[in-house]
Amino acid sequence: MEKYDIIVVGASTTGAWFARQMAQRGHSVLVIEKNERENVSREYDIFHMPKKEMERSGLEIPKEGDVDFGFTFDGAPMLSPYGNYPKKNIPATIVGLHKHDYIMRMSDYAIEAGAKFIYGASFVDFVKDEWGRVAGAKYKTAEGEFEAEAKLVADCSGIPAVARTKMPDDSTVENYKLTPEDIFYVVIYYVVYESEDVDPMALHSSFLNYKAVWSAPSGNPRGAILGIGGNYSYAYAEEIFKQWQKNVPWPRYTVEKVEKGMTPYRRSVYSFVDNGFIAMGDAGCMTKPTCGEGCTSSLVQGEIAVDVIDSLLKEGKPLSRDNMWCINKRYMEAQGIAFDSMRPLLKGVVQTSFDEAEYMFKKDLIFSTKILGGGGEDLQLGAGDIAKIVGGIAAAVVKGKIKASTVKKIINGLLQSTEVTNLYKQYPETAEGYWKWKEKADALWEKIGPMSDICDLEVLKRLGIK
Ligand SMILES: Cc1cc2nc3c(=O)[nH]c(=O)nc-3n(C[C@H](O)[C@H](O)[C@H](O)COP(=O)(O)OP(=O)(O)OC[C@H]3O[C@@H](n4cnc5c(N)ncnc54)[C@H](O)[C@@H]3O)c2cc1C
Repeated sequence: MEKYDIIVVGASTTGAWFARQMAQRGHSVLVIEKNERENVSREYDIFHMPKKEMERSGLEIPKEGDVDFGFTFDGAPMLSPYGNYPKKNIPATIVGLHKHDYIMRMSDYAIEAGAKFIYGASFVDFVKDEWGRVAGAKYKTAEGEFEAEAKLVADCSGIPAVARTKMPDDSTVENYKLTPEDIFYVVIYYVVYESEDVDPMALHSSFLNYKAVWSAPSGNPRGAILGIGGNYSYAYAEEIFKQWQKNVPWPRYTVEKVEKGMTPYRRSVYSFVDNGFIAMGDAGCMTKPTCGEGCTSSLVQGEIAVDVIDSLLKEGKPLSRDNMWCINKRYMEAQGIAFDSMRPLLKGVVQTSFDEAEYMFKKDLIFSTKILGGGGEDLQLGAGDIAKIVGGIAAAVVKGKIKASTVKKIINGLLQSTEVTNLYKQYPETAEGYWKWKEKADALWEKIGPMSDICDLEVLKRLGIK
């Protein structure tokens, strides 16, 4: 049986990046990818990553003229439900890339560094050692079924999480499968404006109150990508897009191409690691709470994992649950607390009616530059911030601009956000404390519920979903 330090399952953004990082550090890496090379990550063409985050993760920025280069632009503000009161993001250059071509670039860097890629190879199951611990992977190609041994299997297979979902129930890595409630169904319209007077750059923006509708560059100077994400199904997302079209004045356009794809829309797994195993990328659910993007946010955990796993391998130590536990703890501190505490807050605030939200955008209440500007990454609400929000909302209720029942939902979201922060700050230092902590976390998330709870019930009924 072939032996490797690491087997990576899935060769998209997370898998290709991780394979390269580990191979460059001198470790032997096998990557198995179910698709043939020319078909990897073809669901949608253009994706965006903040330049700063690319640099942080060691991702090359292609040059104009390169096959994977799309364009760059300077971020886009968040707008109120009727298209007013822009809340500017922290100024940031965003890089638009052709996804398949960029992944090929990343894969070639990994291959140059010594990683072996097998395309058309589907993960089937783990190879286990005599104690039942992960010790490699079984995979299937057109030629038959194969096995390879490894000190670590890294699940980078995205939403299906084909390896994570095969972990036993007593693993510290949860083995849940994502359901339509936990998935963001994204529809992307590549549009071209009918009038040459339209400046698409001036229109780029996002609209949180529809959960997510946005306009971003498409690479065509006269066009844009209009995107929408919704839980449950593409049909639901498209219905919400129609609401946005009714509410927000927008120049006329023709749709040239439509693309569809899925992204996780739920809290991350509590623990990414177990003996000989790590879940990474969408397989571990680390997408941004405000928009479902996951390419660079996943690499926050990836960088920590590279650091820890490289050191352990160099020191000749086993890639055990205990030795890798610090990846969980460090991830929580670096990003997990901010992302997962943002989720209940978002859930609370997007239950406001469009009129109420419009008012709150105007008054910089909750839909404020502080909360929306960082996309959930640097969210730290102090007692002073919360007091200001509560005071502002109380005044709005007195003026009849916000209903008392809406306030209850917002306050509930705020309190639950604080509860998540407090609990996640107590994330166990070692695996020993995990099960007790998990009990508390399960009870809290049960109370919070999924984002899909706040979908438009009428639309869901009309579509036969509820
Ligand atoms: C329409 C749309 C637009 C988006 N735009 C952005 C954006 O602009 N910026 C951003 O940061 N994020 C964006 N996202 C989110 C982003 O696509 C994901 O967060 C990111 O692709 C996750 O990468 P990943 O490598 O973890 O998983 P994936 O990209 O899902 O890759 C998983 C890989 O595993 C392979 N695989 C699956 N099963 C097996 C198996 N059994 N055996 C072997 N291999 C297997 C798959 O073929 C695939 O290549 C968007 C998502 C959608 C749907």
